[in-house]
Amino acid sequence: MAPVYANANRRPPLAVVRGDGEFLFDAHGNKYFDAVSSWWVNIHGHSNPTIAQAIANQALELEHVMFAGVTHPPAALLAEKLIQHAPAPMAKVFYSDNGSTAIEVALKMAFQYWQNKGMGAKKRVVALEGGYHGDTFGAMAAGRSSGFYDPFTPWLFQVDFIPTGICACTEEEALAALDQLLATSAEEIAALILEPLIQGASGMRFMRAAHVAELCKRCEAAGVLVIFDEVFTAFGRTGTLFSADQVAQFGGHADIICISKGLTGGFMPMAATLTSQAVYDAFLSDQVGHALLHGHSYTANPLGCAAALASLALFNEESTWANIRHIEATHQRWLPTLACHPLIENPRVCGTVAAFELKSSHSQCGLGYGSNASQWIRQTFLELGIVVRPLGNTVYWVPPYCTTPETLENAYQTLIQVLQRWGTLIAPGPGSELF
Ligand code: PMP
Repeated sequence: MAPVYANANRRPPLAVVRGDGEFLFDAHGNKYFDAVSSWWVNIHGHSNPTIAQAIANQALELEHVMFAGVTHPPAALLAEKLIQHAPAPMAKVFYSDNGSTAIEVALKMAFQYWQNKGMGAKKRVVALEGGYHGDTFGAMAAGRSSGFYDPFTPWLFQVDFIPTGICACTEEEALAALDQLLATSAEEIAALILEPLIQGASGMRFMRAAHVAELCKRCEAAGVLVIFDEVFTAFGRTGTLFSADQVAQFGGHADIICISKGLTGGFMPMAATLTSQAVYDAFLSDQVGHALLHGHSYTANPLGCAAALASLALFNEESTWANIRHIEATHQRWLPTLACHPLIENPRVCGTVAAFELKSSHSQCGLGYGSNASQWIRQTFLELGIVVRPLGNTVYWVPPYCTTPETLENAYQTLIQVLQRWGTLIAPGPGSELF
């Protein structure tokens, strides 16, 4: 029998014409719950009127101006607000236009920081196994082990990878690997880069804040900069505005923090790389060669800044935090049910993120990224009115914060239905060769 979804990658895309709150609508009026917040960017809901209005007002005032030798009020105000909200020692903001470029800026900032200080030998990067940091070359090099970049590996610069301290390797082993690297090579290492609390794209892999703090403390003691990639984890996703806030409770701090995705509430492509006064000061000089010469045409786009200011202001409303808490509470309530389910393993919750693995031992099929089985899951949820995007055999919910308890509850009920169908399909016997 031919595989059901042999041409899965050629399926027509879902043609979305409208968004409202946690829902997307197609041209036929069908409604879909955006359970992945459109690749994790949307936080206050689609077409949020407050953010939409802020963009419209800004568009009538100043739509864009280059950000070289020029500044404008929305950029200045946003930088001020971001620094007010960000954990210590963040003091300065460097704008760019997407998560990957925020990472490029962070890496370049770290490399040049050491060069400007006359310590150009510090040029190696350490990253965590499985980390994902985007699709540009520096980001791919730092995220090489996530497995998304095979065709490009010959062009990626060398990075030292240490274990995450989850899965097969314990936190102690991970710390020991970092200790060893720092003991032998600290004078050659510029920075450690990691996604604090959750490695997103490699399968929603959770790390304890206390462990991340230990990694930071060791780097600080060894004179190695720490870069937090909070492109996914900032703006309430893990239950606090920045995940760095939770790491700070255990005494760990980053020197550079990258943000994007939720920065504009999911309205505009925009990013920022935050850093400390100490890092910033190393770039102050009369020589242009000491400046971080990195600028994009749309750096600090005023419409993006206006959206980000409006999105940030929504965090001053208690209802936003109440929504975040109710999403986490619903996830927590379903945890025991998922934990007992015969087709599920490792269900877990971190703030508004819930994830689990489909037990691969129950299927003869590969469940890799883009596999037929993974396409089946996506398609089946879609037919039942939910947009999901499994990462291999990892299925997850990352809902917009405006998601009502009823919508999320229905999504869990739908999940149980999908699992029933999945169980029938993969049971030994006729049909099990479908994948
Ligand atoms: N870092 C992390 C942790 C991400 O999850 C992503 C995107 N999924 C990126 C960086 C890259 O962001 P962008 O797609 O906006 O370039």
